[in-house]
Amino acid sequence: MSKFDRYAAVVLDIEGTTTAISFVYDQLFPYARRAMNRFLTNSWRDPGVQGDLHLVEEQAATDLTEGVEGVPVIPPRGEAEEVRREAFVANLLWQMDNDRKTTGLKALQGRIWVAGYRDGALRGHLFDDVEPALAEWNGRGVPVYIYSSGSVAAQKLLFGHTEAGDLTSMLAGYFDTTVGNKRASQSYVAIAGAIDRRPRDLLFVTDRIEEARAARQAGLQVALSVRPGNAPLPREHSFPVVRSLEETL
Ligand SMILES: [Mg+2]
Repeated sequence: MSKFDRYAAVVLDIEGTTTAISFVYDQLFPYARRAMNRFLTNSWRDPGVQGDLHLVEEQAATDLTEGVEGVPVIPPRGEAEEVRREAFVANLLWQMDNDRKTTGLKALQGRIWVAGYRDGALRGHLFDDVEPALAEWNGRGVPVYIYSSGSVAAQKLLFGHTEAGDLTSMLAGYFDTTVGNKRASQSYVAIAGAIDRRPRDLLFVTDRIEEARAARQAGLQVALSVRPGNAPLPREHSFPVVRSLEETL
C-alpha cells in the first residue's frame, strides 16, 4: 500500500534525494582540482577560458593589494605562456584550498565539469532505486520533474551523464531557484501552475524539512527522503519518510 494518495506528477529534489550530498564534495570538487592543469593546457586558447583567466588575474591583483596572505601571484603578460599557466593553476588550487567562491574560479570549475561529463570522466551519482523509479513512473504516464537549487544546466548535465546512462528522456522538465526559493511555498504554487496541475496532485520528495513544510503549505503531497549522509531530521515532524523512491510508487 502506498503511503500517498494518488498523484499525477512527481517533483524530485536532487541532493539528499536522488543523489548523495557527498557527490559534490567527494567527486565534483576533487575532479576540478585534478583536472585543472590539463584543462588549462588543452583549452588555453579558448576565448571564454581566457576571459575567465582575466578575472582570476584581476582577483589575484586585488588580493595582493589587500595584503591577502599566501596568494600565488600571476606573472604579467609577456612572460612565457607556461610560466603564466603554472601560476594560474597554483592560484586556482590555492583558491580551492581556501574554499573561495570567486567568479573566475567558479566559471572555470563549471567548464571543467562540462568537459568531464562529456568525455565520460565524470558521472552523476544516483541512488540505485532512482532509475527504476523513473522507469516505473514513465510507464504509468506520471511525468517527473526536478526542482533543485543547482542550475537547470547543471541538472541536465547530471541526469544526462549518470552511472545509469542518459536519463534526460525520462524527465519532463526542470526547475531551479529562478522559479523561487525552495523554502518558500509560493515556489511550489508556481511549479504547479507551470505544469498545469493542482498542487494536491503533485508528490514532492526532498530531504530538507524546510522545503517539505513549504511544499505542504502550498498543498502538495510530500515525502521526506532519508539517505546515507543526509543531515539528521528533527525528531518530531508529521511527514512520511522514505528511504528509497520505491516507497513512493
Ligand atoms: Mg536536497
